[in-house]
Amino acid sequence: MHWALQVPPSVDLTGFLGILIAICLITLVLVIVVAIWMYRDAQSRGMDAAVWVVLVILASVFGGLLGLLIVTVIYLVVRGNHPVGGGYPVGYGPYPGAAYPPSAPCPVCGSAMVWYPQYSRWYCPQCAQYR
Ligand SMILES: [Zn+2]
Repeated sequence: MHWALQVPPSVDLTGFLGILIAICLITLVLVIVVAIWMYRDAQSRGMDAAVWVVLVILASVFGGLLGLLIVTVIYLVVRGNHPVGGGYPVGYGPYPGAAYPPSAPCPVCGSAMVWYPQYSRWYCPQCAQYR
């Protein structure tokens, strides 16, 4: 009767947990920073800011840092189609280098149109048509 319970060498759980918590916190802070930046950036471009913020948070919850990265990259690609000032008819002067003001009334419905430099055309969101 000499056996004793073999207690495995205790793993340094506190150190491991500390690193894990640190990673979680860094990810959380990153998500918040990216979400705030994305919201403001999307709004300044007349994009659906709330949808993008929800997307980035969902992707981070399910995909972690990778999900956050993927949505950020997709956003950067998509926002190329949305120039700053688009969708905001007043309060923004013509942006530098633009030959046209960022907004003009639609000849059909009279609502503010959006100028797409890459297409060299006006787009009326109200009529969903190029002018
Ligand atoms: Zn129109």
